[in-house]
Order: sequence, then C-alpha cells, then structure tokens
Amino acid sequence: MCLLCKSFYCLLLMKRYKDLFFDLDDTLWDFERNSEETLKELYHRFLAQELGEENCTLFLSTYHRINESLWNEYKLNRIKKTEVAYLRFLYTLEESGSNNVSLARILAEEYIRSSPTKTNLIPGATEVLESLNREYKLHIITNGFTEVQIPKLLNSGIRHYFTTLTTSEEAGCLKPCSQIFSFALEKAKAQINQSLMIGDDPEGDIRGARQIGLDTVFFVKDSKNLQIESTYTIFELRELLQILS
Ligand SMILES: [Mg+2]
Repeated sequence: MCLLCKSFYCLLLMKRYKDLFFDLDDTLWDFERNSEETLKELYHRFLAQELGEENCTLFLSTYHRINESLWNEYKLNRIKKTEVAYLRFLYTLEESGSNNVSLARILAEEYIRSSPTKTNLIPGATEVLESLNREYKLHIITNGFTEVQIPKLLNSGIRHYFTTLTTSEEAGCLKPCSQIFSFALEKAKAQINQSLMIGDDPEGDIRGARQIGLDTVFFVKDSKNLQIESTYTIFELRELLQILS
C-alpha cells in the first residue's frame, strides 16, 4: 500500500524517473530579468541620447512586441535566426523614430554578446539542481540559439549539472515539435517512461512533451494558462523536490 495516499493503486501508478529534462529560459535561467537588464544597458549606452532617457520603457515594450512576433515567424520557418536577431532591433528603432541601420546591427550583435553573460537564475534553481543531480540524470531541451544558450549555462554556473544539452538548432525543429523531444531522449539514452519534462511554456514544453507521451511538470508563471493538462503542476521551482524526493 502506498504510504502517502493509502491506496493500493497508487504504487502501481508511481513511476521511477531516471532522466529529468529541463527547459532553460524562464524555467532555470531568468530570461525575463536578464533580457531586461541587457536591453536597458544597451538603451543607455547607444540610444538614450538620441531617443531620450525617459523613453526607455516605451522602447522596451516595443522591442518585446516585435521580438515576439518575429519569433513566431521563426517558429513557422518563415525567417532565419539571423533575421530575428537583426530585424527586432531595426523595426524597434523604426517605430521609435530612428532609421539607423548600422545601429540596429550593433544592437543585434551586442545583445547576443551581452545577454548570455547575465547570471540571474529563477529562485531555487541551484538548490534544486544540486539536490536532484544526486539521484537523477539531468538534461536541457531549449529553443534558443546554440551560441547563446550554452554560454548562459556556463556563465550562471549550472552547466556541470547536465549530462546532455539539446537545442532546437541541433534537433532541426523548435518545441513543441515531437522531433526535438525524441532527439533529446535518444541523445540522453533515456527511456520515455522513466523521463520527465519540466518547463514553463504550456505550448512548447508541456503540450509538445505530452504529444510523444512524456510525463510533464508545468511550472506555472501565469495562472491564465492553468487549464493546460500536465502530470504535475508547480508554482515554485523548489516544489520539484517534493514531487521527486
Ligand atoms: Mg521557457
């Protein structure tokens, strides 16, 4: 009988996970905060004089809207990653009243260079990885650009926890496509019924992983997404330790 729920069925349903697959951005590495810090630094360094110190917030919200829209185009294979990196700054500058093409190129390069040097992690990330690393094999499945994602792991001091890293570029498609999850499982030599996907994106991480039959932990950032079905739901990263210990 299961000691937790006193049910004879529970033990039958319980799975012994061996491999844990983590999303990176906003699940472990605080993308929102790190990106905001980088963009503010770039604004003050390159744009404040021309666009005005007081317009930084407007610039950032314009950038976020344009970046999201270009990423959606990239996910649909309509534009290349180099175009996303450049056009998000070119279009933001245009909307802000500047047509400085060379400045857009500089901002694109500086953002790619600088943002992965940021080291803010989601609260509890190091503690949780340190603890889980003793019992499980840990892996990353991420949609970001390879040359950006790996430095993020190295600079924030969490690279050594992971046995394998799978990026969308390497797998040939972005989450939620099934291929990236299958590719990561194969690379990790992991069994699907002993593996768990943990992520904050209801579409990319959770629906994608469920499509191929992976168990999932949905790390909820926005309660409007709560209707998504997942094996487990957490609101703080540390709750993983209760599920997996
Ligand atoms: Mg994420």
